[in-house]
Amino acid sequence: MRYNLPNDLKKFTRKKLVGAVAFAVITVCVIVGIYVGLMAATAKISVLRRVIMSAAYVIVAAALVYVLKIWRRLTNGTYAGKVKKVSVNRGVESRSGGVGQGSRFVRRTVKILVFEPGGRTNWHVALSANTAGADVDDLFREGDDVVHLRGTSIVNILGAKHVGCCVCGADNAVSADFCQKCGHTLIKSVEMIKND
Ligand SMILES: [Zn+2]
Repeated sequence: MRYNLPNDLKKFTRKKLVGAVAFAVITVCVIVGIYVGLMAATAKISVLRRVIMSAAYVIVAAALVYVLKIWRRLTNGTYAGKVKKVSVNRGVESRSGGVGQGSRFVRRTVKILVFEPGGRTNWHVALSANTAGADVDDLFREGDDVVHLRGTSIVNILGAKHVGCCVCGADNAVSADFCQKCGHTLIKSVEMIKND
């Protein structure tokens, strides 16, 4: 579904898409370039060794693509609609990779099923973070109207006491039309960006 975003947000999301595509293309070029160089440098060793080397390189390249979140960057598109279902996934408890040493951290992933204008429902990852007892289970509720812009990690709940900015996340007064921090247009309803 394509949304009818205000011009400044259209520009913002287009930039994010171009950035994600450029990043993916550069990464693939680097991976292929290194492989070509590797094959040229090892032209004299046995075929079996080269096959093993190639297999190892594919694994390293796949790991790189995963770590750099290439796929996530490309697919992190704009969506808006009503939350139909919320699913909270608790990951493995760990003691590292978060703020505050000594505390326990659980990576939690909050997925929301969003009923989008036009009749489609899609699952989206609304949050994935190491949380130390933070209350993320009740962050989203069924029936909430939400909006998310391409390339950001922000999922705004509409109709709250404050209007959240979809670009920078700042809280704004309900009466404001533009973000007081970054100046972008504030999305106040799904209706506002719905494509007729
Ligand atoms: Zn803002």
